[in-house]
Amino acid sequence: MRGGYPSSRRDATLGDSELGTRPSIFPETAAVDGHGHLLIGGSDTVELARGFGTPLYIFDETTLRHRCSEFIEEFTSRYSDTLVIYASKAFINRSLALIFTEQGLGLDVVSGGELSIARSVDFPMEKVYFHGNNKSKEELELALGWGVGHIVVDNFYELSLLDGLAREKNITQQVLLRLSPGVDPHTHRYATTGVIDSKFGFPIVTLQAEEALSRALSSSNLNLIGLHFHLGSPIYELQPYQEAMRIALGFAAEMKERHGFELRELDTGGGFAIQYTRGEPAPSVAEYAEVIIETMLAECDSLGLERPRLIVEPGRGIVGQAGVALYTVGATKDIPGVRKYISVDGGIGDNIRPALYGARYEAVVANRANDEEKERVTIAGKLCESGDILIRDIYLPHLESGDIIAIPSSGAYCLAMASNYNSALKPAIVMVKDGK
Ligand code: PLP
Repeated sequence: MRGGYPSSRRDATLGDSELGTRPSIFPETAAVDGHGHLLIGGSDTVELARGFGTPLYIFDETTLRHRCSEFIEEFTSRYSDTLVIYASKAFINRSLALIFTEQGLGLDVVSGGELSIARSVDFPMEKVYFHGNNKSKEELELALGWGVGHIVVDNFYELSLLDGLAREKNITQQVLLRLSPGVDPHTHRYATTGVIDSKFGFPIVTLQAEEALSRALSSSNLNLIGLHFHLGSPIYELQPYQEAMRIALGFAAEMKERHGFELRELDTGGGFAIQYTRGEPAPSVAEYAEVIIETMLAECDSLGLERPRLIVEPGRGIVGQAGVALYTVGATKDIPGVRKYISVDGGIGDNIRPALYGARYEAVVANRANDEEKERVTIAGKLCESGDILIRDIYLPHLESGDIIAIPSSGAYCLAMASNYNSALKPAIVMVKDGK
């Protein structure tokens, strides 16, 4: 087996908890049967594709639950006062929200829609954190009415709007402030959020963060309990977390001295990378946990701060590996000496990441998963944009119309950003476990 590809020979429950190692880019249960068909969660993906049609998204419940417990275990074993909250924007629906409740996660929501999904499964509202750079009055009213535990205030407009709404309802709302720490996490600029020139958060260097903190502390109906930053996504380096922790905790210590602010919660956001391609491994959850917690404890001790509750917000790191997209091959176009296009029946409508961020993926032919990869092709989508290319220049077995292409690591930011462009339908989603 090469580069995280499934094979009939491999142990389907590949271990993944050691520092520095990552599991396969396919779900943990991926295997290949005697017919060369890709199996996930004990189900034949070729049969699933025939039964439900393509494009089709498969989620492996085992992988999903293991990633939830891995995040909880790796963080709480190092620092027990950690709350892992799932960032719904990566992808949420009611089935996933129920699993996250059962696994004991909290939830990061950024809209009335995500909040409504949480509410519809009775998600414990005290474990919900409401983010966003332009929450509407209606969304804030919904959050206050439903008793959302934490609202992460992003700007001065929201600060006074929220205080006023809480006053009208005669409640005191717990809030965190989103900081813009000015740290570059070296990811795609569209997914970089913690730099100064960003629409998100209060910059520290401009003194706007201090101004916001002082206003929040004197707001009659807000209870400022913590600080938040989110640097970007995905972050393949550990050092940006270290740098941002030092800046945020240094700010907290100054604010304690100048304004009597007590930091009770520090929310360090998400950004935890996963492996998408053979050549680009991601740090393990253990490595992220180690660097975040070690830095937090060391800085708190040296600055004389009480250790706050730590909040982490993985999105991609929880759902990414569990999801596999299936497509059927239709037309092929071979331009001699130039390129061979293989067109499939999905594309930017269900996965905009390659077009938006230049994201790269691997693929396997689900109905001939053991065949030799001998042809260089480009997998094109069917939507009316030249940029609708899912994978450029990948080596795959010779492909025929009707073959099923499986693209792994498709659980995060694919369906969540799906559209009906060209009036195409959105794909069905199937959760698999133990052959069901
Ligand atoms: N938290 C916040 C505030 C975010 O904006 C995001 C993603 O953009 C996340 C968490 C989740 O990031 P990831 O899916 O990379 O873990």
